[in-house]
Amino acid sequence: MRDKTMPAAVFEGEGKLSVKEVPVPAIGQPDEVLLRVDAASICGTDVHILEAPPGHPATPGAILGHEYTGTVLEMGSAVQGLKAGDRVVIDPNLTCGKCRYCRSGMPNMCQSMTTLGIFINGGFAKYNVAPASALHKISEDVPADIAALAEPLSCVVNGTQKVRVQPGESVAVLGAGPIGLLFTQVFAAAGAGRIVVSEIAKVRAEAAAKSGAHVVLDPHEPGFVQHALDETGGGADVVVDAVGTLLPTALDLVRRGGKVLLFGMNQQAAPPVRQNTITRYEISVLGTYIAKYTFPPAIRVLESGAVNADALITHRVNIANIHEGLDAMRSGEAVKVIVTPD
Ligand SMILES: [Zn+2]
Ligand SMILES: [Zn+2]
Repeated sequence: MRDKTMPAAVFEGEGKLSVKEVPVPAIGQPDEVLLRVDAASICGTDVHILEAPPGHPATPGAILGHEYTGTVLEMGSAVQGLKAGDRVVIDPNLTCGKCRYCRSGMPNMCQSMTTLGIFINGGFAKYNVAPASALHKISEDVPADIAALAEPLSCVVNGTQKVRVQPGESVAVLGAGPIGLLFTQVFAAAGAGRIVVSEIAKVRAEAAAKSGAHVVLDPHEPGFVQHALDETGGGADVVVDAVGTLLPTALDLVRRGGKVLLFGMNQQAAPPVRQNTITRYEISVLGTYIAKYTFPPAIRVLESGAVNADALITHRVNIANIHEGLDAMRSGEAVKVIVTPD
């Protein structure tokens, strides 16, 4: 007997998220798939959506949750390559396939993108309907908690593909939130020689050490820049800003001819930048945004066991208690919060 209603966390506008019983969704289009959600995780973006005024847009009435994994229950008539019982992860960013960018291999720059769990219903629910094109199969050997990290990891892999850290190279990661920690873990797995992480919060600094950082520095301590330079032989080959405001610090820490990768997003950030440093020392400054054909490699990384979820997942809640998870994110006490339906 299939459920008729399900618990869901619904964005109500103006900083409000309500947990309520809503009807179980049904397949409406031939390319759609009905999923049972196995696990979801709370993203910093969810916290920004719920700020008043909002730090990120979302559609009132939408079920939030854009980082989730599920099991295929039913498929529309046009769906191929999936069967009931398949474990999948979901690429929540649905692109139009028609715009200039979609047609030239840059779907992450799509001009008419929408997102499951932000603008349309997502994974903070017991069931979800998603188009088959958004689904990627993942081995059932990967626990649901870890599979829920596929979306943030796919974004991180888009970034790592741009900087291509080689064995022995040094890396500085600024900020040890979930994204900074995933970068740290991927760079460690890729054989980085020296990994320096900067982080203010103690719980995140500890997570960085568990994630493969060789040294974790507090950027507020006097002498931080010199210490980081000393640790990287005078400047890191690659610096990642996982915060979104730290380009000036990244330019302090990168070696001559090195690469700076900007991942963190803060629409208010407008730091003064010493442009001459970029010119004089031939620094490559690269932006990276969401996933770009990087779900398949991210899934392979998760299946390989290279991601240490113990360093990332600090809290587990069910949908009824999702506000506890959000509060733990807001207080900085949580790194990653997993949300399960029951
Ligand atoms: Zn996210
Ligand atoms: Zn498009």
